[in-house]
Amino acid sequence: MKFPNSPLALLILSILSSLSVSWATSEPVPINGFLQCLPKQFSSPATPKPLAIVAAKQESHVQATIVCAKQHGLQIRIRSGGHDYEGLSYVSHVPFVVLDMFHFQSVDVNVKDESAWVESGATLGETYYKIAEKTKVHGFPAGVCPTVGAGGHFSGGGYGNMMRKYGLSIDNIVDAKLVDANGRILDRKSMGEEIFWALRGGGGASFGVILSWKLKLVRVPEK
Ligand SMILES: Cc1cc2nc3c(=O)[nH]c(=O)nc-3n(C[C@H](O)[C@H](O)[C@H](O)COP(=O)(O)OP(=O)(O)OC[C@H]3O[C@@H](n4cnc5c(N)ncnc54)[C@H](O)[C@@H]3O)c2cc1C
Repeated sequence: MKFPNSPLALLILSILSSLSVSWATSEPVPINGFLQCLPKQFSSPATPKPLAIVAAKQESHVQATIVCAKQHGLQIRIRSGGHDYEGLSYVSHVPFVVLDMFHFQSVDVNVKDESAWVESGATLGETYYKIAEKTKVHGFPAGVCPTVGAGGHFSGGGYGNMMRKYGLSIDNIVDAKLVDANGRILDRKSMGEEIFWALRGGGGASFGVILSWKLKLVRVPEK
């Protein structure tokens, strides 16, 4: 069995052995001080907090959030998979609300059309899994981390293992549904080719809230 020799197993063994040493010494364990220390390191009154987190369940919730945030001069931070390196999906230095898209996670695969509509809150892992459930000879070129969200990933480009053959994710995205700053729901046709081009790589949050993307599936060998 490989596990006992792996670095993870060694780490766990070393933690366990150091714990058993400190228990054996009957010194009081300073757990209260440790727990009180944690929040002081993680957050402070100066850490920017959202005024509200809207966990939208349907399109009208997204529209309402945009309209009301505009009326009250609030910034919206849009969060799909929450993997933004700079924290742009959950931190701001002006008054803000977080619009969380995690309920938007359907992946609707159409094998005949070789396409799939993927909602922004779906992760890459869920997307690959749903495609593989329906077809063994199709895939989609995107990132390698399964917990990255479709919302932020596709609006930033999306590179992964199939890049050499099929390019970036955005080279294989053929439509999108967007709620614009006026709360209108637009698709590729109604938003126009320029916005559709900019959405794919320019950062979706610059142009509105992306509800879903239409992917053109690519052919892959069964094994
Ligand atoms: C562990 C890890 C592995 C990664 N691996 C890869 C990889 O293999 N290939 C690759 O290309 N990239 C990779 N990335 C980068 C990743 O693709 C980007 O950070 C991406 O923006 C994350 O998307 P998200 O939805 O998870 O993040 P979020 O934090 O939710 O959003 C990221 C950005 O997009 C905006 N946004 C999110 N949802 C929407 C929406 N519905 N409408 C409009 N704007 C929206 C947010 O406001 C924010 O600015 C990785 C990142 C991490 C942390």
